[in-house]
Amino acid sequence: MSMRQGTADGMKTTVERARIAVIGGGVAGLTAAYELASRGYAVAVYEGDGILGGLAAGFRADNWEWPLDCFYHHVFQSDRDVIDLARELGVPVFFRRPITAIYHQGKPYPFDSPLRLLLFPHLSLLEKLRMGLVIAYLRWVSRDWRRFERHVAHEWLRRWMGERAYQALWEPLLAGKFGNDYQTVNLAWFWARIYKRSPALGYFEGGFQALVDRLAEAAQRRGAHIWTSTRVEQIQPQDHQLTVTTNRGEESFDAVISTVAPQTMARIAPALPEAYRSKLLGLRSIGALAMTVALDRPLTDGLYWVNLPKKEGFPFLALVEHTNYIEAERYGGQHLVYLGDYLAPTHPHFQMSSEELADRFLPALARFNPDFQRSWVQGIWLHRAAYAQPVVSVDYSQQIPSLATPLPGLYFASMSQVYPWDRGTNYAVRLGRTIARMTDEDLSAGRVQSEAAWRAAPRPPVGMEP
Ligand SMILES: Cc1cc2nc3c(=O)[nH]c(=O)nc-3n(C[C@H](O)[C@H](O)[C@H](O)COP(=O)(O)OP(=O)(O)OC[C@H]3O[C@@H](n4cnc5c(N)ncnc54)[C@H](O)[C@@H]3O)c2cc1C
Repeated sequence: MSMRQGTADGMKTTVERARIAVIGGGVAGLTAAYELASRGYAVAVYEGDGILGGLAAGFRADNWEWPLDCFYHHVFQSDRDVIDLARELGVPVFFRRPITAIYHQGKPYPFDSPLRLLLFPHLSLLEKLRMGLVIAYLRWVSRDWRRFERHVAHEWLRRWMGERAYQALWEPLLAGKFGNDYQTVNLAWFWARIYKRSPALGYFEGGFQALVDRLAEAAQRRGAHIWTSTRVEQIQPQDHQLTVTTNRGEESFDAVISTVAPQTMARIAPALPEAYRSKLLGLRSIGALAMTVALDRPLTDGLYWVNLPKKEGFPFLALVEHTNYIEAERYGGQHLVYLGDYLAPTHPHFQMSSEELADRFLPALARFNPDFQRSWVQGIWLHRAAYAQPVVSVDYSQQIPSLATPLPGLYFASMSQVYPWDRGTNYAVRLGRTIARMTDEDLSAGRVQSEAAWRAAPRPPVGMEP
């Protein structure tokens, strides 16, 4: 196995360039590739899709100046890892405070500041105060997420916030994120969300695709080779190396970093010991669907994001009017509205054509604007992803597979491992950097991992501590 060696003055030089494959050209994979190429490794990135970016990828109509994210995206002010990376790559980031709202009894109510909460007419002052205290406790008083992960958020919040406040404002948020699985999600997830969120939302000039493109270019400038439309079918250990089989052929590497979904990882790496594979297969997640509708005029009265509780009877769970956040001029003057949902990939909406779904979804737009006519619609795009949101249940930290797998040289880094933080591009960047550092350290030290060694000293998942 080739490796890097230290010199007398402690500086590392590449004696023989170790070869590393990165599977997945999403933000985590590209960040790892960028880091490792910067450290002198020979890096090959294999991306199954025709474009880079994974869940953060964008698309562009002919008359748009900026691409639009296939799934609605923004960052928070606390998302230091991705903001710093964007600055390092020269991608400008800007912050705004668009209006987020919750739909309640037939009407959207802005809900993005303590004042808005005080003005919400469907709860008593006492109920609002009690809710405010619980949120303040989670945000400012306790950071003990390990204690929180022993509780189910649905039960804990109902108990401490009170039934009515929880049902009106927070249950829709949980259900909007986890679909039918929301009653199993632990309180640490909810805590992380409260703890990290900022009312100001950040966006990149050129959208998230601009960040992805700059990252890929920077990795390539440092020598990384990036292959799109190249799906990895198998990873097998062979003669102290790992052989990666794709639809284009076979290559051998000193290390392989895989950033695919856990179920895919279990399938493409059959040599993984059973204990690790069953951990991968035990991780739960749901899929996401986003229909983007281009209109010739605005739909809502300045709302960016509206959470739609199930009981209000909408065929989707969130309406996001992107052009109430980013000006329509960037998109040829079109007004762009996402209709989003989180669903099990077995749900019929995952099989339906975009015409069938449009027939189901579009009539609901009249509930936001009674004048809405189908003739306003200038374009419709549909994006679906089967692995979009890990579902984190009680004691989730015990269920996370280590980043270094028991197979020597094989690493696994996915959204399911950034807990207690909710998945996001910020944590994809952090994950990519962590896995790159870990791989570098192992290769530099010539460390031969063995399952026994890893069992004896398992590494904690990334980002565990606030
Ligand atoms: C609806 C929605 C809204 C979101 N909103 C936000 C937001 O507002 N802000 C934010 O920061 N984040 C948001 N995210 C999350 C963010 O997009 C992800 O956390 C991040 O992009 C994950 O990056 P990743 O590289 O870990 O995984 P992915 O993006 O999933 O990348 C994995 C890559 O691996 C490729 N792949 C899979 N199998 C193979 C194979 N066999 N061979 C080769 N390649 C393969 C895939 O095509 C993909 O490109 C959102 C996600 C969704 C779904």
